[in-house]
Amino acid sequence: MSHLLEIEDLHVAYGHIQALKGISLHVAEGEVVAILGANGAGKTTLMRTLSGLLSPKAGKVTFAGQETTRLGADRIVRLGIGQSPEGRRVFGTLSVVENLRLGGFTRPPAEIAKSCEYVYEVFPRLYERRTQLAGTLSGGEQQMLAIGRALVTKPRLLLLDEPSLGLAPLIVKNIFQVLRAVRDTGVTILIVEQNARMALKLADRGYVLEVGRLRQEGSSQELLSSPEIQAAYLGHG
Ligand code: ATP
Repeated sequence: MSHLLEIEDLHVAYGHIQALKGISLHVAEGEVVAILGANGAGKTTLMRTLSGLLSPKAGKVTFAGQETTRLGADRIVRLGIGQSPEGRRVFGTLSVVENLRLGGFTRPPAEIAKSCEYVYEVFPRLYERRTQLAGTLSGGEQQMLAIGRALVTKPRLLLLDEPSLGLAPLIVKNIFQVLRAVRDTGVTILIVEQNARMALKLADRGYVLEVGRLRQEGSSQELLSSPEIQAAYLGHG
């Protein structure tokens, strides 16, 4: 059976620095898959390669049966891969609604309006702030906007890079509640997270990345109860 996303032996380098040294993984339609790993493991590199912002040295990426390995970022969005990047890169001098509409650049205006309504439904805070400049939002609101902007592309696969980074626990909880609701609408999710516990609670399965290589994989339950994962990524409790 072919999976929605297939990654085969992916190698990505920045000059002489080998960031990914042969990664193979898959994501089935409707699944939530978490990528765990310490700083510098290559998680962001993986996400940027999948969304067409970096070109791999070797390997193959297939999405919905079509090879996307060297397609540009806009083609990849059109195929149904939406990304919320690390560091919630919103356009600070544009309003919330302008940011959301930009997210929908590949779609007809009536559909963008419908998707914005959906985003406002899941993140009511963004509706309250819709005319405010994105640069004046709190960190949590900017993260909501970055996810909202990816949702406006109506993705079949949503890539999330560190949605909890630098946010207060209550806000993280709220964002993960929304991600659960998004998953329940049938969107497939690949999430990179340093907050391994939150990510594994949301995910069906996970992969552990260590300095550019996959070290471990398993169901979320297996990873949550693995002594190595507990020691390296879950801390106490
Ligand atoms: P973090 O959680 O810190 O973002 P990460 O797991 O996402 O870590 P990457 O950002 O993908 O890791 O980095 C993987 C490796 O590639 C690291 O050794 C990093 O120093 C290197 N790297 C990342 N971006 C660049 C770049 N623009 N130029 C050179 N090296 C880079």
